[in-house]
Amino acid sequence: MINFQALSDKYATPLYLYDFDHITTRYNALKEAFRAKKSLICYAVKANSNLSVVKHLGDLGAGCDCVSIGEVNRAFLAGVPAYKIIFSGVGKKDDEIKEAIEKDILMINLESEAELARVELMAKAVDKVARISIRVNPNIDPKTHPYISTGLSSNKFGVDIEDAKRMYIQAKKSPFLDPVGIHFHIGSQLTELDPIRESSEVVADLVRNLKALDIKIKFFDIGGGLGIQYNDETLINPYDYAQAIFSTLATLDVTIMCEPGRFLVGESGYFLTKVLYEKTNENKRFVIVDGAMNDLIRPSLYNAYHQIEVVDKHDNVSKADVVGPVCESGDFFAKDIALPHTEHNDLLVLKSAGAYCYTMSSNYNTRGKVAEVALENGKDRLIRKRENFEDMIALEKEFIK
Ligand SMILES: *Cc1c(COP(=O)(O)O)cnc(C)c1O
Repeated sequence: MINFQALSDKYATPLYLYDFDHITTRYNALKEAFRAKKSLICYAVKANSNLSVVKHLGDLGAGCDCVSIGEVNRAFLAGVPAYKIIFSGVGKKDDEIKEAIEKDILMINLESEAELARVELMAKAVDKVARISIRVNPNIDPKTHPYISTGLSSNKFGVDIEDAKRMYIQAKKSPFLDPVGIHFHIGSQLTELDPIRESSEVVADLVRNLKALDIKIKFFDIGGGLGIQYNDETLINPYDYAQAIFSTLATLDVTIMCEPGRFLVGESGYFLTKVLYEKTNENKRFVIVDGAMNDLIRPSLYNAYHQIEVVDKHDNVSKADVVGPVCESGDFFAKDIALPHTEHNDLLVLKSAGAYCYTMSSNYNTRGKVAEVALENGKDRLIRKRENFEDMIALEKEFIK
């Protein structure tokens, strides 16, 4: 049991807590599921890019899936070796591509023909061979929230099968490109296995086609997207996930790569916030807390659900909206949830707040980003300081005239 009250007393609120032991359990469960084949789990850094979180996963053996050169450099700083780092994303700047090639990372995931041309040019400029992988869009409906669905032709991600094939043939001809991988990622918070299996089948067929053209794909990257528990979802278990992928590969000799973010860190996280006061407008009850959408934007952005508990209070008196102090009607954590009567300084805990929460936070309303704390082996330690006013103005101050 985590002593939320003691931790909020020690570090103040709002606050993020991450249970590192839970992250370990999740990583090991996934790694174990893929045991029958060669595999590399590349943690999707964007889910939670705190250096200590990345280092924790790196120490367990994970690589990193990065979507900017900033994330690549975080991975390096956390001690993750170059041969386990991949660079994905739908748009990369020339400088980012160049730096990634110079740093000799495992591979760059390409998402368009135009990007293939840029990467080839940058490789030539630094006189190196860039290892690449192509993100195939299998055009399969992942059955998740449209904002986090990426595997349909109507989404901006990846290229269709025929284009991918042409790109591989082109890449093979280039002295500056080495096509070593193939990639798909159909969406996030996936709770159904069928779309994953179907996508894997489509992509595995392409790998077999490429083999006939003497293009040997070594890394079969199945993306991330495994769902987690926010509410009452039925989840995919890692063993079934691995078996579904294996069933599409038959005799193909590839290293399976996957890029989970949410699955590894999501449920490890807790967001702690304190009640400022309650108010009632007409018949509507609001619980106003010290955390806000700038700290945790998922409810505002995707109408996402986070379970909320009031520490040491269990009577569900009446329905309320839990809202923050930011000047936006979209600033809420929950709407119409049953909640005990609360008083000033009561502590609320939002569950499953380890992924896409802190990393999406901002300074909106000149609110400093909150502190982050790791829990490991029964101990707690600060892994990011709370921002103060000076931190927030540091890059502007000198320009006041
Ligand atoms: C965001 C992203 C992931 C991680 O997704 P999760 O749902 O957090 O597992 C993996 N791969 C790519 C390419 C992504 O864009």
